[in-house]
Amino acid sequence: MNDAGARGKCAACKYQRKWCQENYPLAPFFPSNKFEDFKNINRLYKVRTIIEMLNSVADNEKKAKTVETLILEAKNRSENPVYGSIAIQNKLRLQIEETMKEIDLVTKTTAYFKEL
Ligand SMILES: [Zn+2]
Repeated sequence: MNDAGARGKCAACKYQRKWCQENYPLAPFFPSNKFEDFKNINRLYKVRTIIEMLNSVADNEKKAKTVETLILEAKNRSENPVYGSIAIQNKLRLQIEETMKEIDLVTKTTAYFKEL
């Protein structure tokens, strides 16, 4: 029996209402307490696509990062169904532009006073 089996179904199997098989590829990344995360991810990508994405990544550390990223993407998408992560990117881009203008103004002001 694997860890997932010992603790009960993983979130993916619980969501799909099926038995958690030994070495089920999603089990290490979706323990039972990640049910909401799995629900969001599954709404966006579906199980087969998630498994394909994980299979395309070589080591476990990178697989964990991949899942972390998918969870964030799915969370952003559930909070903003139209724009998802793009909404956050755009907001940050505007903040960067405003900050760059501020830096520019401070640099010009500093240069002006240095010349006095
Ligand atoms: Zn499972």
